[in-house]
Amino acid sequence: MHVALVTVGDELLAGRTTNTNATWLCERLSERGVSVERVTTVPDRVEDIADVIETYRTAYDAVIVTGGLGPTHDDVTMEAVAAAFDRPLEEHEQALAWLEDHGYSRGDLTEGTAALPAGGRPLHNDVGVAPGVTLEEVYVLPGVPSEMKAMFDRIAAEFSGTPTYREVVVANEPESALLDRIAAVRTQYDVSIGSYPGENVRIAIESPDEKQSTEAAAWLRERVERVR
Ligand code: ATP
Ligand code: MG
Repeated sequence: MHVALVTVGDELLAGRTTNTNATWLCERLSERGVSVERVTTVPDRVEDIADVIETYRTAYDAVIVTGGLGPTHDDVTMEAVAAAFDRPLEEHEQALAWLEDHGYSRGDLTEGTAALPAGGRPLHNDVGVAPGVTLEEVYVLPGVPSEMKAMFDRIAAEFSGTPTYREVVVANEPESALLDRIAAVRTQYDVSIGSYPGENVRIAIESPDEKQSTEAAAWLRERVERVR
């Protein structure tokens, strides 16, 4: 399964908020074997959000959008999703009923709290107020990390793929010195390899076949200078 993430918010683009939602979602999706193909951050602007949703929903199996929910003036994500699908926003009766069951009275809710694109399936918010929505292959979640995480847990089972087995070998050598052995692993085993230099070099070996990645890592561990 190939997925694109869209994180919405001027604050993210200005560097005032760190995009922890993207990292968290990438981690959850990857461990489920889903391939995340895009992470795009867009401003709180209807046309910009609608544009990427329209493009990505035809290109990927699913699109997860976070941020900009709720009825305040700078929260335009639902409006943008509705525009991308060319549907109106409507108060969603089931979403309102769920909120009522959870202690909110209709009269106290800000108008538009439960306004979702027509035909969408509401995603209930166990931590906050604003509901999310699923519309065909698009999933819309809140921006507040605790709310986003709780809502993703409700839909996680809809995301699946081929799990890969990952091994990491840490080498106390310059990256350039390791190229011959990395190339040798590539020719001998059916694995993909990433190398990440830092204080030491971390070589990540991955394969859908557990035996291949274990054996490739063992082969390499015997042939690099280990960190003491
Ligand atoms: P609310 O209904 O409370 O307004 P929301 O779904 O509209 O929530 P935003 O208004 O976009 O979400 O952001 C609410 C809070 O969540 C802000 O404090 C923001 O910094 C944080 N937030 C938003 N997006 C992210 C993100 N991608 N990573 C981490 N934090 C985020
Ligand atoms: Mg908001």
